[in-house]
Amino acid sequence: MKRLKTLDGVDLRGRRVLMRVDFNVPVEGGRVVDDTRIRAHLPTVEEIMGKGASRLILMSHLGRPKGGFDERYSLKPVAERLRELGHEVHLAPPVFDDGLRAWAGGLPEGALGMLENVRFHPGEEANDATLSALYASLGDVFVNDAFGSAHRAHASTVGVAGLLPSFAGRLMQREVEALSRVKESPERPFAVVLGGAKVSDKLSVIRNLLKVADVLLVGGGMAFTFLRARGHGVGKSLCEDSLLGEVSSLMGLYGDRIVLPVDVVVADSPDSPSGEVVSVEGIPEGKMGLDVGPKTLELFAGRLKGARTVFWNGPMGVFERKPFARGTLEMARLLSSSPAFVVVGGGDTVAAINELGVEGSFGHISTGGGASLEFFEKEVLPGVEPLLEG
Ligand code: ADP
Ligand code: MG
Repeated sequence: MKRLKTLDGVDLRGRRVLMRVDFNVPVEGGRVVDDTRIRAHLPTVEEIMGKGASRLILMSHLGRPKGGFDERYSLKPVAERLRELGHEVHLAPPVFDDGLRAWAGGLPEGALGMLENVRFHPGEEANDATLSALYASLGDVFVNDAFGSAHRAHASTVGVAGLLPSFAGRLMQREVEALSRVKESPERPFAVVLGGAKVSDKLSVIRNLLKVADVLLVGGGMAFTFLRARGHGVGKSLCEDSLLGEVSSLMGLYGDRIVLPVDVVVADSPDSPSGEVVSVEGIPEGKMGLDVGPKTLELFAGRLKGARTVFWNGPMGVFERKPFARGTLEMARLLSSSPAFVVVGGGDTVAAINELGVEGSFGHISTGGGASLEFFEKEVLPGVEPLLEG
């Protein structure tokens, strides 16, 4: 991939800056309940203001309103939290026409503004040219700091970037640099740990990672499709029969690199109060596998020893339930104390790590959710493309 255009050396004095951020935060009862994503953008906001921009207007989506105003998805709670974090922000009215230009024109010198949820306009997700032009009229320079939305070609991520000089914000830069280091030039040995619910969500990622990884450790629900393809009975575990052929052929091609669980924790259902460790040769007919077992963790730990780069996506088990959280917690502990450059991606994986409170000790924790996975699927994400040097 070509080099990113970053904020280094960009002269922003007296310029109107428009920036896409990812303020897609959980809101309950009109309050932001987790402001991690908001705080993640503040260094870029502060840098832009510090460089003398005449104003900065932020734009973001929040949730999935259906292309029209819906109070439940208003960015008002986000504006409120920004104020609590010391950033006095002017929130635009939910209009996407000349009224928006008039609002922006009325902002005081040096102000921080924010548009209402960009998904209140149907043209956002359609990457509509008129809406993109409206956005572009609000700034002289476009900065995209929303890595979490970079896998979508929307008006506020891709459309507007085609119309203004565009640069990567610091969060975008950190994400792209960390993930590129893994994707393009991993220090070897390079180990990948995959888990989570389904193979189908991640098949093309698995295919791409197998091309570059020295070893792929498979846990979580997806392991059962692999185990089934290897001929094991998997009881009532998650298993995608339609993918058995595909998974078998991957194991034929890369068998020596793919490491599967040797024992799992089974129970009647995810709601069971406890589980039982069984070998993968003896998964009972009526039970489901909900976590990896202790021997598997030992096996995985052995294969991770000496790794210089690790990419981890997907919980090792149903971590939301205490009896099945151990595999994920142990993996988090193991990787957080590994000397390797460890990158963790995936919404649920990052949530699991935060619950454990070991966040500080990884090389990079991607805030990108689905975008961090698609980063490995595609040559370049559509939202990143306009931020690359020509
Ligand atoms: P991420 O968001 O990190 O990419 P996924 O969305 O793929 O991860 O998977 C997360 C989900 O996978 C969690 O809700 C977890 O409960 C589920 N999961 C993990 N192991 C199993 C399993 N053995 N059976 C069923 N679901 C599982
Ligand atoms: Mg998920």
